[in-house]
Amino acid sequence: MQYRVYTAKSYKTIPQVQKSLTEEQLFDIDVVSKVFPFKVNNYVIDKLINWENPLEDPIFRLTFPQRGMLKDEDYERIASLIREGASEEKIKAVANEIRMKLNPHPAGQKYNVPEINGKKLHGAQHKYKETILFFPKQGQTCHAYCSFCFRWPQFVGIDELKFAMKEVDILIEYIKAHPEITDLLFTGGDPLIMKTKILKQYIEPILEANIPHLQTIRIGTKALGFWPYRFLTDDDAQELLDLFKKIVDKGYHLAYMAHFNHYKELETDEVQEAISKIRETGAVIRTQSPILRHINDSAEVWATMWKKQVDLGMIPYYMFMARDTGAQHYFGVPLVKAWEIFRDAYKQVSGLARTVKGPSMSATPGKIRMLGVTEINGKKYMVLDFLQGRNPDWVGKPFFAEYDENAMWIDELKPAFSDKFFFEDELEKLLKKEAA
Ligand SMILES: *Cc1c(COP(=O)(O)O)cnc(C)c1O
Ligand code: SF4
Repeated sequence: MQYRVYTAKSYKTIPQVQKSLTEEQLFDIDVVSKVFPFKVNNYVIDKLINWENPLEDPIFRLTFPQRGMLKDEDYERIASLIREGASEEKIKAVANEIRMKLNPHPAGQKYNVPEINGKKLHGAQHKYKETILFFPKQGQTCHAYCSFCFRWPQFVGIDELKFAMKEVDILIEYIKAHPEITDLLFTGGDPLIMKTKILKQYIEPILEANIPHLQTIRIGTKALGFWPYRFLTDDDAQELLDLFKKIVDKGYHLAYMAHFNHYKELETDEVQEAISKIRETGAVIRTQSPILRHINDSAEVWATMWKKQVDLGMIPYYMFMARDTGAQHYFGVPLVKAWEIFRDAYKQVSGLARTVKGPSMSATPGKIRMLGVTEINGKKYMVLDFLQGRNPDWVGKPFFAEYDENAMWIDELKPAFSDKFFFEDELEKLLKKEAA
């Protein structure tokens, strides 16, 4: 299948768009796509979106900009500039102002840049002891963009390739010097946007380095959801599957971390065939997604998705909270509601799907899970714990927050029974140490 990509400049040439969207709806897309990234492809258009009623379709909402993603005043600012026929330059300046208000750098990402022998690994992040994240330079884009993406600043150019890295040698040197690292996670963007030939330039040196403590190679990707032809008909599809097999044959656990947001992404013949091909290589596919208003904020969607994933031989892994950046005001689900949906879905599925963890916030102190709401002496409290902590010893200790039905993120919560959360003092020290 030929890969055809559409952006804000070209989406009006899509026949389904011409047929199904009104002038007003096109204008909304024009306005919002000035601020947020927009890219979609022919697989998403032809096979995933139901064009009978696109504005209600979860995959349309997953990929097309929507009016509500901008707050009214910001929408109006851009809309009036377009109506006046303002220059691209002027529009871009205002768009950048709006972007800067949308917390483009959440969750302390400026910390955790690893360093070895005086060399900084600007394309890597080592936050949790056992896992290092690696952002290969050529993998910093995707087959389409998710409207809610927390990496949006890099796709609109205000964060260009901030984390990206080219030198695999320094990475190997670093992993060798850190025996606690068992997992290397390739992430992006989407690392599988890279041609196999390029991906090999990263993976083969790692295989050849024979690092005894490195056990798992993970690839975080949305290729199955957005472009399953990557494993079927792309000219280097077989070469990619052979590379997977080589990693497995070398004795590594190859963990394919698949990003799926809705069960509709699991229904095409193409995705199901691609899943089989990946599994045949010996790779294990685990799945993850944020919980998103307007896209998947119902227990039925999650239960159906997890069941279908298990049915197709995949392992449900994480449910995330929408991060505190970009259009969180539009996509975010409050913690209490997210937990209700999680629990409601979790109840409905077999133990094989209860491998999933969440809802979890990837925040500065770590991955914090909303464990639930409890009542003590007739008063409601929220219970949370760490799934991953900047200090590994924080993991698995339940802690309490005052009940807040509307809170969407840890920094909106107030500690209960104490004036601070148990980790706050130590976190402050750890961050100071890192910044020094
Ligand atoms: C999620 C995450 C990991 C991996 O955590 P697991 O719980 O082992 O999947 C590693 N590094 C960072 C920064 C993360 O956010
Ligand atoms: S595939 Fe991942 S990185 Fe790419 S746009 Fe979607 S959420 Fe963002």
